[in-house]
Amino acid sequence: IDLANSGIQGLSPYQPGKPIEELERELGLSNVVKLASNENPLGPPQSALDACRAAMNGLHLYPDASGYRLKTSLSAKLGVQPEQLTLGNGSNDVLDLLARVFLDGDSSAVYSQHAFVVYPIAVQAAGARAIVTPAQSWGHDLQAMAEAIDSDTRLVFIANPNNPTGTWLTEQDVRHFLAQVPDNVIVVLDEAYAEYVEEADYPDGVELMADYPNLVVTRTFSKAYGLAGLRVGYAISHPDVADLLNRVRAPFNVNSMALAAAEAALNDSDYLARSLDVNRRGMIQLGEGLSKLGLDVIPSVGNFIAVAMPGRAGPYYQALLEQGVIARPVGVYEMPKHLRITVGLEQENARCLEALSAVLNEPR
Ligand code: PMP
Repeated sequence: IDLANSGIQGLSPYQPGKPIEELERELGLSNVVKLASNENPLGPPQSALDACRAAMNGLHLYPDASGYRLKTSLSAKLGVQPEQLTLGNGSNDVLDLLARVFLDGDSSAVYSQHAFVVYPIAVQAAGARAIVTPAQSWGHDLQAMAEAIDSDTRLVFIANPNNPTGTWLTEQDVRHFLAQVPDNVIVVLDEAYAEYVEEADYPDGVELMADYPNLVVTRTFSKAYGLAGLRVGYAISHPDVADLLNRVRAPFNVNSMALAAAEAALNDSDYLARSLDVNRRGMIQLGEGLSKLGLDVIPSVGNFIAVAMPGRAGPYYQALLEQGVIARPVGVYEMPKHLRITVGLEQENARCLEALSAVLNEPR
């Protein structure tokens, strides 16, 4: 096939895990624990399920293409204008819109080694040149990123916190970086896991936007709000940037059940509080358990933790699977020894730790 954009030839498809039912059938197990995709272990919010049920009566109609109600709720919650919001089919969709709007074959984008895997996909699919800076202690080296910006650079992607490393950047770090970035470069601050972060000097990207109009913040309903399957994310930006994103956005990219559920989840502060509480306690449980097993972890502020296995992660992933626990190898992130484990419910974390202990004691 003759492609105009050779970047697409160099891509390999995102590798999703197998459906859990299929794995259980293959393994002959019935109680597989999936801690592989940074999903919310609480299940969806009841308020969102109720909203979905009500929205079903309107399934013969197209969704509200402007997302009026969800944008109104979001703008009130965030203290921004509705004109600053762009809704996406998951925040992945928004990241892709940013690449499509700001990149072409003559431009470049900067992101860090070990950064979220959708950045290389979006950049290459747009035919642009990727400038990948080396990580520092597994996290982003913002100084290296600032210095890597060249005259072709139109976009910078920063994940705060980053997936799969769980590393994060302070307000001071991010401000210092933004002050060095030319005005014509859009900086995307991907805050998919922001709700989980409790560190006092973790920046609120939306507040930074007052000083840096070239900043775009992306967030999602997939993690702390428990709606990964519905696919709703959004960008907060200067209205001029939102206007551009909304020009290329596919009409009706967020479906009516997703719009209704996201609005309900946003107003469900009890569910959010429970999500954060389960995550806080689960992170401590996993951190302590992993360190008792003698494993090194990368300190994480997300809903997952990357742990270094004694050797290549692949065989450990397989051995854990046979114990009925699914973790995520992160070789695609140039981290061949790490497994990423999502924080689950207490008994799921316990199962994971037991399985790891058994696997580590197996002769190998
Ligand atoms: N950014 C980061 C850092 C992520 O880890 C994820 C989810 N894996 C996303 C964005 C995209 O999430 P979604 O498309 O479900 O909103």
